[in-house]
Amino acid sequence: MDYLSTRDPEAAPASFTDILLRGLAPDGGLYLPVRYPQLDASTLRSWRTLLAEEGYAALAAQIMELFVDDIPAEDLRRMAERAYAPEKFADPQIVPVTPLEDGLHLAHVSEGPTAAFKDMAMQLLGELFEYELARRGETLNILGATSGDTGSSAEYAMRGREGIRVFMLTPRGRMTPFQQAQMFGLDDPNIVNVAVDGVFDDCQDLVKAISADAAFKRKHRIGAVNSINWARLLAQIVYYVSSWLRVTTAEDQRVSFCVPTGNFGDICAGHIARQMGLPIDRLIVATNENDVLDEFFRTGNYRVRSAAETAETSSPSMDISRASNFERFVFDLLGRDAARTSDLFGTQVRRGGFSLAGTEEFEDAAGRFGFLSGRSTHADRVSTIRDAHERLGVLMDPHTADGVTVARRHRDQVDTPIVCLETALPVKFADTIREAIGRDPQIPERFAGIMEAPRHVVDLPDDAEAVKDLIRERIAAVDVR
Ligand SMILES: *Cc1c(COP(=O)(O)O)cnc(C)c1O
Repeated sequence: MDYLSTRDPEAAPASFTDILLRGLAPDGGLYLPVRYPQLDASTLRSWRTLLAEEGYAALAAQIMELFVDDIPAEDLRRMAERAYAPEKFADPQIVPVTPLEDGLHLAHVSEGPTAAFKDMAMQLLGELFEYELARRGETLNILGATSGDTGSSAEYAMRGREGIRVFMLTPRGRMTPFQQAQMFGLDDPNIVNVAVDGVFDDCQDLVKAISADAAFKRKHRIGAVNSINWARLLAQIVYYVSSWLRVTTAEDQRVSFCVPTGNFGDICAGHIARQMGLPIDRLIVATNENDVLDEFFRTGNYRVRSAAETAETSSPSMDISRASNFERFVFDLLGRDAARTSDLFGTQVRRGGFSLAGTEEFEDAAGRFGFLSGRSTHADRVSTIRDAHERLGVLMDPHTADGVTVARRHRDQVDTPIVCLETALPVKFADTIREAIGRDPQIPERFAGIMEAPRHVVDLPDDAEAVKDLIRERIAAVDVR
């Protein structure tokens, strides 16, 4: 399978291992496979047996094989088995699906090492990065900024790996106590936690400033694990397939998904699964108060927000001003027209956004691509958490509650069962849980003792030179080969 950039009209192809360690394509676009492999009923039937008999990792390996032809199949299988080893997950099914109420299910994609769905992709990315770097005889220093979930999931995926160091910038004192304990509790020498005197945007600006120093970036082999990395999407396709398999009994049954959305990464994998012919009926985008995407699906207007217009909400992992993966969907929506995509995302987005209202492509979007959308607010999520806890005995995190809120609103318009993705566990967001049910969420047994562990974190000012000094110093001090 070859890959192309959403902005390259020549569609110059690249291979999977070429794009694995890259973020954006050189033209600023995002990578996508040149075509989506098509699933027929007999493949789905064989996967039903495979999932039942050999489990999630075996299914993941088969799906990867469809998209990767420059890594041997047996190596893919070994990597999938390590990434989705039962001992790393709270449930041997890896992503169990449970009924919530009439017509609604929860797919538990947050049972991994850091209790957020980002583990599903990061665990595989850790394997793939280590494999490819060893093959090339290279090392990589991952520099990132996090408001909580991405950073911890990247660190747990990369800890102890050969050839990789992680430098993760966090806004000092602004993550939840559990998130801080999770990250700062790691004592692996290849993981460096930095607490910056600033907010998340300051951390992101530092990463941008350091990455813009081309000489420093090259000399110190600085890379990223951002949400636009293709391999992350690939890993996420797997749980749409496994969840569909778990709620159906025959190949002609359709299922809808409702996904709490920020950067359009998680739901983009659902879009790709649907384009591959997985029998998905509706894809429901659920946003919080930062409703860039809900606005687009309702009106056709994509209006990126300024920092001042971006709210800090109680579902913080969805607090985005623009959706970094959205370009992939728009490329498909426009019939894969790279010139138009390039104009929209390379030029118009920089000026504040664009409108597809009234175009044939947008008017057909719900029918052809199945999208619906909705928005949930603090009051909605608190009331959904309280209601599900009191009436159904289910405690869910604020992001999942945004999804369930929006799914319930669409329940009557959708003729198929809706699977809501549970994207994090409640323990990560104790304040909002306390507000909803009057007490703290329980700490799952596998995280017992985490709050008491010694902390490993370097305090730095909001200053790119100080971060660069730390990077130089740690590279010299910690050998990863
Ligand atoms: C990252 C995250 C999301 C949003 O996922 P996207 O891929 O950015 O749409 C939702 N919920 C939780 C808990 C997250 O960590």
